Amino acid sequence: SANVEDKGRFHTIIRQTEKPVGEADKHEFQAETRMLLDIVARSLYSENEVFVRELISNASDALEKFRYTVHTAGENEKNFEGADRPLEIHIATDKQSMQLTIQDTGIGMTREELVNNLGMIARSGSKQFLEQIKEAGGGVENSSNIIGQFGVGFYSAFMVADKVEVFTKSSKVDSQGLRWSSDGSGSYEIQEADGVAHGTKIVIHLKTECREYADEDRIRAVIKKYSNFVGSPLRVIALKS
Ligand code: ADP
Ligand code: MG
Repeated sequence: SANVEDKGRFHTIIRQTEKPVGEADKHEFQAETRMLLDIVARSLYSENEVFVRELISNASDALEKFRYTVHTAGENEKNFEGADRPLEIHIATDKQSMQLTIQDTGIGMTREELVNNLGMIARSGSKQFLEQIKEAGGGVENSSNIIGQFGVGFYSAFMVADKVEVFTKSSKVDSQGLRWSSDGSGSYEIQEADGVAHGTKIVIHLKTECREYADEDRIRAVIKKYSNFVGSPLRVIALKS
């Protein structure tokens, strides 16, 4: 069936092993981002499962942006690549390596977009979040409610991860594959990488105490709770390393 074929293709993209090449560029997070990350990483927020919703919502946005790009491009205008690819979200759990991978075949990011989108706080929600934290006195204890209230987008991954890797390739023509990585402290790295598929793959290296998110059933349950209405096909598989 189509489903089985899809699964086959899924295995190939999610298992694809990207290879970093050349020098890694080290960047400092913007001061506000550092502050936010620090709060997020130390948060004892019991509903930390919301990071799954945030990452799926970003994947879904990325697919939507790609759809829009393809749709609005003129017949002859070739300013993007890979118009024919299936637009999907794939999620893989891996208990042995304690990893959770969320991959989309959406718009992807250029180096500049990685810096602007994942190195700085652009979303207004996060700015409000920081203001609320300050008002609440800045303590980790007070921050949990506020995390729940505002959501912290991509950075919520650091509630459960001690390292996050992002492999991405923009749909703009001649884009290179890139690897972004950070342990959520002061800095992140960007490096070119071979074998990166169009779109974005986020690899969450789970903290030991958050290993439950490397469990397929746990992830399915979270998705059912929060992401029932994602407008693109979404698949979950368990990998055995
Ligand atoms: P928001 O989704 O509210 O903009 P996030 O912190 O969740 O804030 O994400 C920040 C930005 O990073 C997004 O606006 C987007 O530009 C970029 N981004 C995050 N995830 C992806 C992804 N999977 N594909 C492409 N871009 C992404
Ligand atoms: Mg988001």
